[in-house]
Amino acid sequence: MEKNKIVVVGAGPAGMMAAIRAAEVGQQVTLIERNSRPGKKLLLSGKGRCNLTNTCELGAFLRRFSRNGEFLRDAFRKFFHQELIQFFEKRGLKLKVERQLRVFPVSNRSNSILEVLKKELSNNKVKVIYKARMKDVFIREQKVRGLLLEDSRVIPADKIILATGGASYSFTGSSLDGINLARKLGHQIVELRPGLVPLETRQNYPRLLEGLTLKNIRLKFSDFKKELISEIGELLFTDFGISGPLVLSLSGEIADWLKISNNIFVEIDFKPALSAEQLEARFLREFNENPKKTMKNILKGFLPQRMVKVFIEIAKINPDKKTSQITQEERRRMIKLLKGFRLDILRTRPLEEAMVTRGGVSLKEINPRTMESRLVPGLYFCGEMIDVDADTGGFNLQAAFSTGYLAGESAAL
Ligand SMILES: Cc1cc2nc3c(=O)[nH]c(=O)nc-3n(C[C@H](O)[C@H](O)[C@H](O)COP(=O)(O)OP(=O)(O)OC[C@H]3O[C@@H](n4cnc5c(N)ncnc54)[C@H](O)[C@@H]3O)c2cc1C
Repeated sequence: MEKNKIVVVGAGPAGMMAAIRAAEVGQQVTLIERNSRPGKKLLLSGKGRCNLTNTCELGAFLRRFSRNGEFLRDAFRKFFHQELIQFFEKRGLKLKVERQLRVFPVSNRSNSILEVLKKELSNNKVKVIYKARMKDVFIREQKVRGLLLEDSRVIPADKIILATGGASYSFTGSSLDGINLARKLGHQIVELRPGLVPLETRQNYPRLLEGLTLKNIRLKFSDFKKELISEIGELLFTDFGISGPLVLSLSGEIADWLKISNNIFVEIDFKPALSAEQLEARFLREFNENPKKTMKNILKGFLPQRMVKVFIEIAKINPDKKTSQITQEERRRMIKLLKGFRLDILRTRPLEEAMVTRGGVSLKEINPRTMESRLVPGLYFCGEMIDVDADTGGFNLQAAFSTGYLAGESAAL
């Protein structure tokens, strides 16, 4: 029997997995990639270490998606973290589980993940065409016929799988080409917004503290009317504001609030385990035991060294004042600041700088059991271009691999 011609567009994790699976099932598969090599974003992932998945159980896994996690249930039923881990380990790559159940290659190099995928493409005789940018698809009588490349080449196809990625880090090749094509073919596109993105602040202290990480602090985001979210985690100061795991995780929600309010601010609680009263008791004890110590030296026991200078300036305390001379009013001012160091949020960094894109091809018109378009038979979607996105921790890559696997298998069978 003649094989079906399946063309996959985009050699990111979703597209590579789709191509491998479709070829494993026995079809003739071509993978089109606009770059001269595959997986450029994959190589950057996990700070170059690639946090490829997470071993938490399915319910908890789905809850890490901002919305729409339920849509992935079928894809995860077919190919979840156990299967992904097995996929790499069976091919000789050792993986390890780190804190919060994040999975990384033992080599700590994302390239080792990419090498397995490249080898598998080759073992399964997937024809990979690099430096080939999809421009359009041919559809006649409701059937997919082929693909037009930017350089006018035509690639015949019975089925097409789009895996062109999200809207950010465009230098890696991820493009809106697939999303724009889906729109042209009648698909709804859910507004593209940044997810996992740093935040810009009005104040410039973060610039002075650039590179400083604060661990186990509480961030409390509010507008003037109410508290919005409050969570404990890790923060990183940058030259324009704040980033780090906790900020990135909360950034999607903050982005939505910033659309309706320009009065969002965050308070950093440096000592979330202590109440203001307990903190005051600790201050008093320190002051009694060290009456001659300067305030700047005492604060080193409460804050990272780099933070002390900025903190003391904002608290309007003379850094060289002895603890015995600190007034009750000054002490209370410092306690208030330790429990609520405020920064006004101006905006998120642009979509281009987001780790994931929120929004994309609407799920209403994709069959979750197959990833096939409900509007154009023979056209499939997978990876970040569809309207799913998740927290940090390996969830986004697992979604890309799982939807890729399902799209590849469904197109092939
Ligand atoms: C800095 C950074 C770190 C990250 N770290 C992690 C992490 O540790 N864990 C995690 O789970 N997630 C992480 N992510 C998110 C994760 O990398 C993405 O969600 C994932 O790469 C999406 O895979 P994809 O295959 O859908 O798209 P992409 O990886 O974006 O791949 C799309 C591919 O399509 C190609 N392409 C685009 N348009 C065309 C066209 N017209 N014709 C031909 N080819 C085309 C592109 O060149 C690209 O190769 C990170 C993201 C960033 C930016």
